[in-house]
Amino acid sequence: MSGVGGHQALREAMVATARRMNTSGLNQGTSGNLSQRVEGGFLLTPSGLNYETMTPEDLVLMRFDGSHEGPRKPSTEWQLHRDLLQARPEVGAVLHSHSMFSTTLACLRRGIPAFHYMVSAAGGTDVRCAEYATFGTPELARHMMVALEGRKACLLANHGLVAVGADLPAAWKLAVEVETLAAMYWRALQIGEPVLLDDAEMERVFQQFRGYGQ
Ligand SMILES: [Zn+2]
Repeated sequence: MSGVGGHQALREAMVATARRMNTSGLNQGTSGNLSQRVEGGFLLTPSGLNYETMTPEDLVLMRFDGSHEGPRKPSTEWQLHRDLLQARPEVGAVLHSHSMFSTTLACLRRGIPAFHYMVSAAGGTDVRCAEYATFGTPELARHMMVALEGRKACLLANHGLVAVGADLPAAWKLAVEVETLAAMYWRALQIGEPVLLDDAEMERVFQQFRGYGQ
């Protein structure tokens, strides 16, 4: 099934996640956006629509050439979602938000270093902060792609947070993790200079996670 009416279960899951972004405090108002890969393109939250009244049909079906279907205009950050989903086949979903603590650090143009071992959840030894560019521009998408090299999350200078995952639940989980780390780092900076884990220790952390679970 394709077209505006297709992907019903995915659309419903996206609406639920968008609402959860607000109720959980991960986002404020309509500033964040979500995308999910589907056959031939991706589904994206619409521009400037209240998540409380948004329905599954309001989600925009986009193709990688930037064309779209449906009654709504896509989010102004569609290029950020398009570039990521096009360039990284392992990425199935993208979450962007203006989360309080991640954005606070991003306003200082400061990433999150290895002050805690869970920084590894984003795929490396830090969460980088991308260079600044105006919202909704191809430059912003380009800067984001650089900061996301070898990573699953990054901050956007004076703007917010981007997290990706194989699917929507994975992107959600990582966004919550990065926002939690940002809050911890912010708090630690209030009372001193956090001690950073070195690369050798972070390598041990990655090995430990590889043996974790089954
Ligand atoms: Zn934004």
